[in-house]
Amino acid sequence: MTKWYLESGKDDDIVLSTRIRLARNLSSYPFKSRISPEQQRELCQKVRSALEGVRMGENKLSFLTMENMSEAERLSLVENHSVSPEFADNPKDKLLILSQNEDISIMVGEEDHIRIQVMRPGLELNEALKTADMLDNVLDETLDYAFSEQLGFLTACPTNLGTGLRASVMLHLPALEQAGAINQLANTISKLGLTIRGTYGEGSDAKGAEYQISNQITLGISEEMAVQNLQSVVLQVIEQEKKARKAVWPNTVTLEDAVWRSLGILKNARIMSGKEAVERLSLLRLGVSMGILKTVSIQTLNALSAQTGAGTLCRDSREMLSPEQRDIKRAALLREGLKDA
Ligand code: ADP
Ligand code: MG
Repeated sequence: MTKWYLESGKDDDIVLSTRIRLARNLSSYPFKSRISPEQQRELCQKVRSALEGVRMGENKLSFLTMENMSEAERLSLVENHSVSPEFADNPKDKLLILSQNEDISIMVGEEDHIRIQVMRPGLELNEALKTADMLDNVLDETLDYAFSEQLGFLTACPTNLGTGLRASVMLHLPALEQAGAINQLANTISKLGLTIRGTYGEGSDAKGAEYQISNQITLGISEEMAVQNLQSVVLQVIEQEKKARKAVWPNTVTLEDAVWRSLGILKNARIMSGKEAVERLSLLRLGVSMGILKTVSIQTLNALSAQTGAGTLCRDSREMLSPEQRDIKRAALLREGLKDA
């Protein structure tokens, strides 16, 4: 079954992915900071039982004990955005429920007892929200959610109180970044109840000009309103990025040169660091989006990004590679993946 990040989606030349996340807690257990290891294991068992019977068609759910995974497997899950870095770093008594195409991932024991996540390629907020709500309803049938009539869902951090929803869109914004316009954008969108974060969420930097925009407000606003607000701002940011591309690269030959040079290097290099790969793939993505590169697809770029992260390289070769070995393997994968470009 094709992984979600290898599928195409709406506006996917600029929108890399959409994510809906719902934070939920059970009233019968203390929050994460005070839960005992026994209670945490019980919690995992309860969530597992609640979801074991749910029918997802071909997209079957797997129940994965984080502790049984290798470090490379855990890192690979972070690279593909199935789990947060914090969840992967603290695997003890943690359960991950992952669908076959990886578009659904439910973390048990992250900041909240349960974090339901649904990912989609491109801009697909409503569809992702529908799937997340379906899973939420299934869990709600058998679990006793911590819920207050007045406040809504109770969460470990007050910033999630209410809907417990973070709707987010990952955008490729190379021109706004190049123009030094990201800070200003952050200021503007914060007035609209939204926030801009780096590639791996809270506290992370943007890599390859990938920024995520998500709702900041969860209290006193419905899920639908939050999603609609995000959707309309994202559409405007896409337009701003398109305008900035014309302003930053008024002379197309400069951009063409940068894109084709990157392709030349990726097709020929024998040693490629993770950082350089991300930056060069970002330039190819820009090239495809601008109609400069016609022999490469966005899906090929997504596949190459997914395969060349440090964790995924180690996972797929079933050994802990040294940084030098990784750089050589990465270069080989990129050459192979782009040989017809
Ligand atoms: P949360 O409040 O859910 O913890 P963060 O912004 O800290 O949100 O992000 C948590 C994780 O989810 C990070 O690893 C981040 O990369 C991933 N993530 C968030 N939004 C998206 C998105 N639109 N596409 C892909 N991954 C995302
Ligand atoms: Mg978080």
